[in-house]
Amino acid sequence: PNSCHMSGTVVDCCCSYSAVEQVNRDDIGPILDKLVQSAFFRYFKVDLYCDCPFWPDDGMCAMRDCSVCECEEDEVPKIWRAAEGRLASADSPAAACAAAAQESALDRTLQPDIRRALLAVPDWRGYRNPWMPEADDAGVEYAYINLQRNPERFTGYAGEHAARVWQAIYGQPGLEAGASAAPELRVFYRLISGLHASISAHLVAESPLRDDTGEVYAWGPDLAEFRRRLGSPELRDRVENLYFAYLFVLRAVQKAAPLLRGVEYSTGLPEEDAATQHFMHKLLDNAALQQVCPIPFDEGRLWRGEEGPVVKEQLRNITRVMDCVGCEKCKMWGKLQFLGVATSLKILFSAEDCSGAPVPEQGLQLERNEVIALVNLLERLSNSVETVRTLSVQLAGGSVAH
Ligand code: FAD
Repeated sequence: PNSCHMSGTVVDCCCSYSAVEQVNRDDIGPILDKLVQSAFFRYFKVDLYCDCPFWPDDGMCAMRDCSVCECEEDEVPKIWRAAEGRLASADSPAAACAAAAQESALDRTLQPDIRRALLAVPDWRGYRNPWMPEADDAGVEYAYINLQRNPERFTGYAGEHAARVWQAIYGQPGLEAGASAAPELRVFYRLISGLHASISAHLVAESPLRDDTGEVYAWGPDLAEFRRRLGSPELRDRVENLYFAYLFVLRAVQKAAPLLRGVEYSTGLPEEDAATQHFMHKLLDNAALQQVCPIPFDEGRLWRGEEGPVVKEQLRNITRVMDCVGCEKCKMWGKLQFLGVATSLKILFSAEDCSGAPVPEQGLQLERNEVIALVNLLERLSNSVETVRTLSVQLAGGSVAH
């Protein structure tokens, strides 16, 4: 009864659709829901004002629902700002390295020259993310955004502009769904399509509902749009890709568990930080998941590695394409989710760095923004799996079990 339309095993994965739905609804989803509301996970640092490197900027969506509100200065955890201040005021990269050694996590959004100097030091090399382009323009301005106050939902961003961005993403050479594609490129295609399906699920779940005069009377699910974007039988591959993306990211989180258990989830608010720590452990030690889906996705079986460098280049390009998204809120969530994808790939394929050199002895390290992006991406995908489940039941005329 959990699965009205999806049966069998998620393609290329080891778990059945119904098992995924159940464990997501009863175990993983509620934990993620708590986590993303916590102080540690609700502030994302992002550059929203970069120029599009691929075509002339032709305006941003000016509708209210497209905009984001930045955090008030005193809202962002003071200890984060203080650490940034200490690194930024170092008068040489060497001094910055010394200062960074005192910090608990490297900040990807540091000034590029300081960052480059740090990543050249053996102790910090494990922080490199070969799946992300190196930030090299010194003028980039970062802002903290409270994700809870800027929820991902329908914005009205559509038409030629949005279509061009999706075309630039799917137009990466060799990126295709077909069986003839190299396995890595097929996996990557499915991740992107799954993410696209997730974005569609969020915008249909939170759409403006209008009365006969066109007035918005509430926000909620738009079933007709759900059918058009995801719900009809011929679009089943999009939904399959969503489940696939969810299991892929879940596997990355599981694989990084030893590292994630050791992260200091500190924001300077002891009670809230203790709760964050508690829910992170609950997520990582989840027994239900271990029983139903011990290895949700077998990266070793699908990823032989020959096309890995091509995928790296594609993901770096797609990350740059995010600067061309013409709606602030979509851009912010797009950047967060693609950083989450890059972080999942960094974790799952961390045996070597981008030039083929082995990772340093202390191994993989994650930056704070990467951990925030990873957990928020997993929550977005988890939420979409539940949305697709409930709206599919409604579309079929049934009532939904909560
Ligand atoms: P689109 O979703 O634009 O799809 C374009 C084409 O891609 C489709 O015609 C179809 O051929 C193909 N396609 C669609 N889905 C899939 C899939 N899952 N897998 C493979 N191919 C597919 N809008 C919002 O309201 N809120 C947001 O938060 C938001 N965030 C966005 C973030 C990004 C990065 C981008 C690029 C766009 C975002 N948008 C958002 C816009 C939204 O994604 C759509 O582009 C818009 O609603 C127009 O939808 P559409 O029906 O024309 O098809």
